[in-house]
Amino acid sequence: MEFDYEYTIFIKNNDDEITGQIHEFNEETLKENSSDFNPISVINEITANKIDEDVFTKQDNIKAFGFDLGIKYDKTFYYFIDEIRNIIKNNKKLSTTHLRNLKNSFNLYIDININDEGYYYTCYSITSIIYALMYYLLENNYRIDICRHCELFFITKSRINPPKFCNRKSPYVNYENFTCGVAVDKIRDNLRWKRKGIENYLYNKYQGDYEKRLKKVGDFSDKCTDYNKLIRKEPTISNLKKYDDFLDKQDKYRKLSKALNRKSQKSKLKK
Ligand SMILES: [Zn+2]
Repeated sequence: MEFDYEYTIFIKNNDDEITGQIHEFNEETLKENSSDFNPISVINEITANKIDEDVFTKQDNIKAFGFDLGIKYDKTFYYFIDEIRNIIKNNKKLSTTHLRNLKNSFNLYIDININDEGYYYTCYSITSIIYALMYYLLENNYRIDICRHCELFFITKSRINPPKFCNRKSPYVNYENFTCGVAVDKIRDNLRWKRKGIENYLYNKYQGDYEKRLKKVGDFSDKCTDYNKLIRKEPTISNLKKYDDFLDKQDKYRKLSKALNRKSQKSKLKK
């Protein structure tokens, strides 16, 4: 097997601080490049950015991995990340066994050397770099998760009750000032209020017709219950938005009929 690129990664774990260094070598151009990076930010960033752009930033936003060396042509990476997403989304804790299985199915080549100074990984593709970083984190008691709201990767220390949400700001419109977990609570509260308002409206609207009222309110509540189940399990941006859009549509009828009522009352007064 021949490789055009070679990446040597060195990872060190000192007093809870993980640091990384990457050395790249391009066989064709004989170009070499070395830089420092933070393995945790790299994993955090890979789902937040497109890989062809400046993905691997250090905390101070300096490009850490050079993409000029052909790394961006490695499309396998996307499939690899999708597989990882699927494992986590199926409510499983990502384990080193999962990773090893993926390594086999993706035919990743990595040489690993461990000495007193740290871990040395020799990789030949970006997918294997990501594999090595993830493997290292899992082995060192970190947990790799996907935020249930914004769906980006986040890393925490492994514990019994791991957080479901990351600490990023929510991308949900009008809730951008809140972190994902807080935003989800607030959005759910807001949806609950909207639902209540519409239920009250339907209840009053069909006051004279008991059966129709039962049906209209019941149908609406059933739909809300389905949406609620969905956003309880998966409070993603798109699921919350789906429920919000559904409520807004119902609310439009309510507002419309309110306006019509006002109009007809006005005309009655005129008479
Ligand atoms: Zn998040």
